Amino acid sequence: MVEPGALLYEGKAKKVYATPSPDRVVVEYKDDATAFNGQKRGTIEGKGAVNNRMSNLFFRLLEAHGVPTHFVEELSERRTVVRRVDIVPVEVVVRNLAAGSMAARLGIPEGTALRRPIVEFYYKNDELGDPLVTPDHVEVLGWASAEELEEIRRLALRVNEVLGEFLAAQNVRLVDFKLEFGRTGDGRIVLADEISPDTCRFWDLKTGEKLDKDRFRRDLGGVEQAYQEMMRRVEGGLGR
Ligand code: 5GP
Repeated sequence: MVEPGALLYEGKAKKVYATPSPDRVVVEYKDDATAFNGQKRGTIEGKGAVNNRMSNLFFRLLEAHGVPTHFVEELSERRTVVRRVDIVPVEVVVRNLAAGSMAARLGIPEGTALRRPIVEFYYKNDELGDPLVTPDHVEVLGWASAEELEEIRRLALRVNEVLGEFLAAQNVRLVDFKLEFGRTGDGRIVLADEISPDTCRFWDLKTGEKLDKDRFRRDLGGVEQAYQEMMRRVEGGLGR
């Protein structure tokens, strides 16, 4: 059993602890919720446990489909051992339908179908509000090499295929999601961070009901219930 050591970092939704092994850290998921770059704050009871478990189930599913991830071992309801990686400072968003910031920025109604998935890159910088950037920005400013960017794009689209298909079978439309990638000690790109209702838009396939953090962001109510319902569907789909 890995016992978490010193606190290395505390973010908005997670804490990261050292372990005796230099290439492993422990992440701990909190119930704290923020939105709009920290301007809206609150607590979503049980969120930490859902996000920990759901991320780990998705990471294992993705590993089985050839996507390398940082996942090592779930320690408890809220804690997981992951590989220590150097995070690429770029948030990768994949979209299947127009929603959220894309719908707002381009004046497109939410829910408009896209002919094919769109991959977007955002510079991870809270002070600047995570601005949208182009692949050229990422490469020329040295955040990732051209080869790494190509690999990130390929993996992001593969995640979309695997999760999109799995979720559709659970009556969930994967509208869009955000991924983060990291470099391992030997320079390989792996999927990191989390994949959860905090980082994805999940809509019920039949009713269109929102089953994700937009319920918190937009004050729609039923936030905890939506997280629990998504957990139930994901576990059901994996026969758990
Ligand atoms: P949008 O750009 O429409 O706000 O977000 C697109 C998708 O990426 C949504 O599923 C959203 O949850 C996710 N996303 C984008 N940026 C962030 C972020 O900074 N934090 C989290 N938790 N999710 C994000």
